[in-house]
Amino acid sequence: MTASYFIGVDLGGTNVRAARFTRQSHTPEAKTKIPTEGARGVDHVYGRIEAAIREVAPSDLAQVAGVGIAVPGPTDPYAGVVMKAPNIPDWINIPLRQVMRSRLGRPVFIGNDANLAALGEWKFGAGRGHTDVLYLTISTGIGGGVISGNRLLLGVRGLAAEVGHMQVDPRGPLCGCGQLGHIESFASGTAIAKTAQASLRDGQGEDSQVLKLVDGDISRVTSAVVGQAAQAGDGFACDLIAEAGTMLGQAVASMLHAYNPSIVIFGGGVSMLGDLLLEPTRRAVRRYAMSEAYWKDCPLVLAALGDDAGLVGAGALVMEETPQ
Ligand SMILES: [Zn+2]
Repeated sequence: MTASYFIGVDLGGTNVRAARFTRQSHTPEAKTKIPTEGARGVDHVYGRIEAAIREVAPSDLAQVAGVGIAVPGPTDPYAGVVMKAPNIPDWINIPLRQVMRSRLGRPVFIGNDANLAALGEWKFGAGRGHTDVLYLTISTGIGGGVISGNRLLLGVRGLAAEVGHMQVDPRGPLCGCGQLGHIESFASGTAIAKTAQASLRDGQGEDSQVLKLVDGDISRVTSAVVGQAAQAGDGFACDLIAEAGTMLGQAVASMLHAYNPSIVIFGGGVSMLGDLLLEPTRRAVRRYAMSEAYWKDCPLVLAALGDDAGLVGAGALVMEETPQ
């Protein structure tokens, strides 16, 4: 019997998700989600990943061509080692591929979750048919992935395309990574919440929906609250989102200079604001790109796979690595 199933796993700080795919479709034939339970130790999490895989895999694992695992942190796909998963306790230098390969007896491939989401969007989502794709996920932080000439751009240690940590202002705010003024520190969900809170403490937006939505408790303002107010047309909230979009556009212009894609895809919770965020981004791209050749035929669009991008990308990684 041929090994015709592909298993994708999306390892998160909260949940492990797994799905079974065939080469024909990105719609899973089976899908599961179980808690990661990271506080119970590294070995326990290995067990959780294996349990999720066995739940969706056929009982005869010989029918599985391979398992792809999307990891939430810097990952060396060549060595098969997770360098660090910040949201899972003690996940530092974890030989994930080797461990899962010996537990399952099947080929295992691993990658950074944003890189694999880029792969998923390229093969099955908004980037289908393009040879060069820039993918950005904007949520708590900003992650990214690049397809260049029909290949996922990895770099020598698999650390390429960390576009969220592109510096846009050396005197800017502290980024989640510890450096200053990266685009993540201006345009991520965390950054939008922080900026909103600071502005409100400054006395701005006194009449805004944002304050009403949190009953006046500034510490409860999140990017979701700002987004909700912006979608209702609140001026203060719209300005905050537009500022983030403008900074994002500055960074994207630099990314276009570096990668010259034919499409830019935005995923992650904050991107769900759509044109409220993306219109200012597009305007800034036009202003800051050094030539219209970079943006003229390069639409900025929303992702098509939603929360499933990492999971689908993990499955797609196995398809890429095990050609027919
Ligand atoms: Zn950073």
